[in-house]
Amino acid sequence: MIEARWYEKKEDQKVRCILCNHHCLIKEGKRGICGVRENQRGTLYSLVYGKPIATHVDPIEKKPLFHFLPGSSSFSVATAGCNFRCRFCQNADISQAGEMRRMPGTEMAPKEIIAAALGARCQSISYTYTEPTIFFEYAQDMALLAEAQGLKNVFVTNGYMTKEMLESIYPYLHAANVDLKSFSDEFYKTQCGARLAPVLETLKMMKRQEIWVEITTLIIPTLNDSKEELLRLARFIADDLGPETPWHISRFHPTYKITDLPITPVKTLQQAWDIGKEAGLRYVYTGNVPGDPAEKTHCHHCGHLLLDRFGFSILKNNLQQGNCPQCHTPMSGRGL
Ligand code: SF4
Repeated sequence: MIEARWYEKKEDQKVRCILCNHHCLIKEGKRGICGVRENQRGTLYSLVYGKPIATHVDPIEKKPLFHFLPGSSSFSVATAGCNFRCRFCQNADISQAGEMRRMPGTEMAPKEIIAAALGARCQSISYTYTEPTIFFEYAQDMALLAEAQGLKNVFVTNGYMTKEMLESIYPYLHAANVDLKSFSDEFYKTQCGARLAPVLETLKMMKRQEIWVEITTLIIPTLNDSKEELLRLARFIADDLGPETPWHISRFHPTYKITDLPITPVKTLQQAWDIGKEAGLRYVYTGNVPGDPAEKTHCHHCGHLLLDRFGFSILKNNLQQGNCPQCHTPMSGRGL
């Protein structure tokens, strides 16, 4: 446990956290919405600093990032807690653990994480599984050490962080996969306990800061799968973030609080893929359907196969110094 870095002291021993767009005003003895930042006698503490609940070596494709150091391993780290309350959360056992009196996890200092990542020959650290914003002090200390050792830093995030937080990590953050869960504010309010607009602002700011960004949308039958909504979402990516921004459309499986809806039909994912292309996106991928033709990367200019994938594995890399071997058009991305 350490004193938080992003908060303001208020009257009557209250504090205002400024890490994410909930801007929680926290009374003495209480925690913020994420459940892992606690006001003790007028001082805000991070309860999860140095206490990962999960560490794992993953292919970078699992984040998913398909255009960033393809084929490399990423050391993944998460603590308990999340600032969202997604009713369809796929990691609810660790993301919604923030109400526990004692934080679960093992003790691991930032330098131990970096040593483990180097030992496993990873090229990056991914702050993932839960939400890096809520363990930001820990993530930032790891990111600084990682950068010094030549490792890249990756956030897998819901994009709800404040501008202040993003500015403080910017020089050390190299890539992000951001969930754009819907293009409806109502969906964000009722399904996630958040709002849409701050997520859109984060995405635009990340692009301005030249962080490599890929987007993921979990398509949930009847909740966010209308053609009209998906087209508006895809147009936002193409027009406001750029047509080179990859869009991962992922298959929903019933889980946590949504067990009464079916698995997303493959046909719905194919329609979403068509919508992404219609909006002008160069790279659209399906997720959670291993073996689907839409998990491969083709040259957006001539259609030549550049990266052949099965699930999270690269079967063949045809790139020549990051370019298409047939028409020499560069593939968008970093570290290709
Ligand atoms: S990080 Fe947690 S305490 Fe801080 S504003 Fe967000 S939900 Fe509230």
